[in-house]
Amino acid sequence: MNTNNRLRIAIQKSGRLSKDCQSLLKQLGIKLNLREQRLIAHSTNMPIDVLRVRDDDIPGLVMDGVCDLGIVGENVLVETQAERQRNGQPSEVSKLAKLDFGYCRLALAWPQELGMQDKSWFNGKRIATTYPEILKQYLEQEQIDASVVMLTGSVEVAPRAGLADAICDLVSTGATLEANGLMQGDTILESNACLIQNASLNDDDKLSLINKLMPRLRGVKQAKE
Ligand code: ATP
Ligand code: ZN
Repeated sequence: MNTNNRLRIAIQKSGRLSKDCQSLLKQLGIKLNLREQRLIAHSTNMPIDVLRVRDDDIPGLVMDGVCDLGIVGENVLVETQAERQRNGQPSEVSKLAKLDFGYCRLALAWPQELGMQDKSWFNGKRIATTYPEILKQYLEQEQIDASVVMLTGSVEVAPRAGLADAICDLVSTGATLEANGLMQGDTILESNACLIQNASLNDDDKLSLINKLMPRLRGVKQAKE
């Protein structure tokens, strides 16, 4: 549990979500002194600390109560939740808002030269992914008997490298798939960044601060529409 009396928010340190997270915090009126290498940034006008970490660590930090809030892609949230459930670790969070950035989809893809394929083609195949839990759930649901190869990066080169027959990876424009000679198939999950809260947060001061920030968040979202 974060027993610190400052509200602690986890965001991605550097990557696709970090700029949008920083500008969202700014739009919420949270003033921060973000120094490049610092793990924690203290707000200068509110009792808030921002923890800057790898996106993969964000759901766990919130689920374990190390951080009170976090901003993370639903893809990472769903994967971590499934993995933690399997390991009997805390996996509950309250989802406070779906944010309007970080959109991507988790989709199947295979070498273009194989042409169109239906789901049955995947039987007996190896599929490389960074999201083994989400992929396994999908395969089970679709009754596809394929094996899952876990890779933490460069998934799109797996077929060419002979590591797998197909992949299940994040796509936003499709340009990376195309550049790697891959053809896009079914979407398994659509994802946006979202704001999550520790499920058992019960500190009155922190809850009232969150209650003050939420209408501002809705205001920011409406202004963009
Ligand atoms: P970290 O070093 O924090 O682990 P990372 O390399 O895992 O970074 P990024 O590539 O920065 O992560 O992506 C962060 C999140 O951005 C993804 O989990 C996803 O929710 C979202 N995202 C949006 N578009 C894309 C995309 N085209 N490819 C990958 N992720 C995307
Ligand atoms: Zn990551």
